[in-house]
Order: sequence, then structure tokens, then C-alpha cells
Amino acid sequence: MTEDRPGFTDTPYLPGGEYRVHDPERPHPPRVRPGGPVTAGPPSDATVLFDGTDLSGWEAADGGEPGWSVADGDLVVEPGTGDVRTTELLGDCQIHVEWAAPADPDDATYPGNSGVFLADRYEVQVLDCSETAIYADGWVGAIYGQYPPLADASLPAGEWQSFDVVWRRPRFEDGSLTSPARVTVLYNGVLVQEGAEPYGPTTYRDVLDYDPHGPAPLRLQDHGFRVRFRNVWYRPL
Ligand code: MG
Repeated sequence: MTEDRPGFTDTPYLPGGEYRVHDPERPHPPRVRPGGPVTAGPPSDATVLFDGTDLSGWEAADGGEPGWSVADGDLVVEPGTGDVRTTELLGDCQIHVEWAAPADPDDATYPGNSGVFLADRYEVQVLDCSETAIYADGWVGAIYGQYPPLADASLPAGEWQSFDVVWRRPRFEDGSLTSPARVTVLYNGVLVQEGAEPYGPTTYRDVLDYDPHGPAPLRLQDHGFRVRFRNVWYRPL
């Protein structure tokens, strides 16, 4: 694929059959200049997941000690240490996360990659797309591998950016899916996902079926870049 239209043509089709997973032909999101960063401390009824002081309430994705660091009040990816997730289990909720990609991504193909995994499974993509194109379903604000964002409201690398998420978890009965998850996302105050219904957990170059689960951790991705996070909180619905 060319640098401008990266993607794969040997992946399975997504349900509906119009596009493949990571389809290079899927239209890229239009760029929208946001009004500015949306920074927000926790409302009075929120549960704070990271308060800028330490890693209490976080564990490694395998349940061990988290390998990330806290610096200047930020939660910082330490590349190679793996994902981190909350010990708190989140059901239906509103989630706020602020993040900043490295200002100097060292000419990486896809710089500033990280992610916010809802229920430990469904990734809202974090990526520095300010200068870089990727396949549409891998764009910042995508439900990775499934739903491109409705718009790219990126600010320049290094600046703080925000996701505000409305999360409805999937429902299961006797191990079978009765209603899919539902995801709405605002990126820097711009609507980028509206009630998207994931086909299953996030994966790469494939489509997975749902695995039955209940309330689950919020997970942040180590994809090899020193992405920073702050103001991580949620409100149960
Ligand atoms: Mg990612």
C-alpha cells in the first residue's frame, strides 16, 4: 500500500460486507479543527481513577504491578512494560480521559499509539494523526478495526487532548449476546462515535465474537510510545 492509503486487502470483511478490517479504501475521516482542548477535572459524583499522585487503583494487564510511571502529575507509558488497567470494574458509565502523544515521535510509522480499552476489550484508538494517515478503522478516535471516527479533531502532537465516552456494556444471557455494547465518543469536544455497536473485542486484522463479561476494568495501552494521561475519571450511569 502507499503511504497515503495504508491498510490490508487480505483481511476478513466486517459484518455488512462493505469493507475489510483495516481496509485501505475505506474513506479517511474529515479533519475538523477543534475549538481547543477540553480539560475537565472530576464532577462531584465522579470516581477518580488517576488523581496525579500515584498508581494506586492500577495494575498490570496480567494482574501484576503496573510498570508505568507518574511524572509531573501525569500517568506515563513506560514502553515495554505492557498495558495497565484499573482494579475498579466499570459498568455503564461516562468516562473522561485526557492524553498527550509525544511531541517528537522519532519518525515512527504510526506515532503516539496507545489506546483506551473499554471493559478491558474494546479499544478507542489513541494515535497522533496530526501528520500521519493510517487505515480509517485505525484512526485516532476509531473503535479499532471496526468503526472509523466520524471526524479527526486532532490537535498537534504534544498537546493535551481528551476523550469523553458514553459506554453501555454488552449484555449476555446464558452465555449468549442479548445486546451489543454501545459507544459514543467526543474527541476534543467533537462527536466522533455515535452509539457505535462493536462487533466484538478489539483485535488486529480480524473480527472476534463477543466473550461474555460483566463490569470490567478500564485499560490503557502500551504500544511503545511515552503517551501521557491525566484527569481519568468516570461516572456510573
Ligand atoms: Mg492503539
